[in-house]
Amino acid sequence: MTEDKFTLPNLPYGYAALEPFIDAKTMELHHTKHHQGYIDKLNAALEDHNEYYTVDITEILRDIQNIPDDIRQQVINNGGGHANHMLFWEIMAPKAGKEPEGELRAAIETKFGSFEDFQQEFNNAASTRFGSGWVWLVFNNGELEISSTPNQDSPYMQDYVPILGLDVWEHAYYLKYQNRRPEYIENWWNVVNWKKVAELFKANN
Ligand code: MN
Repeated sequence: MTEDKFTLPNLPYGYAALEPFIDAKTMELHHTKHHQGYIDKLNAALEDHNEYYTVDITEILRDIQNIPDDIRQQVINNGGGHANHMLFWEIMAPKAGKEPEGELRAAIETKFGSFEDFQQEFNNAASTRFGSGWVWLVFNNGELEISSTPNQDSPYMQDYVPILGLDVWEHAYYLKYQNRRPEYIENWWNVVNWKKVAELFKANN
């Protein structure tokens, strides 16, 4: 029997740190209500399978087919929600600078033609994601790729490794941007923590 459940990590910055691009109220609700909600429901789903409480959430998602049938969809929704938001908080930072450098930049240019072409393709995937979901920069078999998932589906379930992700659920932007998702996407680039993305790139390349 383990008592170690999944818990909400602290943000590496304050709720107002990403102003004016992402407002403090949205950050606070997103972290304390939405992310916490996924964690609470994940813990509840795993109550009778608490040996999973100590397994890394990304490992659980990679191995999702081995999660018992009766709780699998809850783990997809809420375990995915937990993992997705863990990455999201990390790959943002205040005054992060607008563009990647070094090996990561070179890899993006090789794959997508230029950083601007990459951004355009990513923006397009984010704008056209119907309903709730995410857009990702992932490693797929060692290749950088833009990918998109519905709801809280995790790229780990497809054996991808995400190194950048954008939440396009309305809860991520509606207070400030209402229905203007493209404006949220455009502004979000100002808070991408390219240093962290480069670390993830290096760790998985
Ligand atoms: Mn979210």
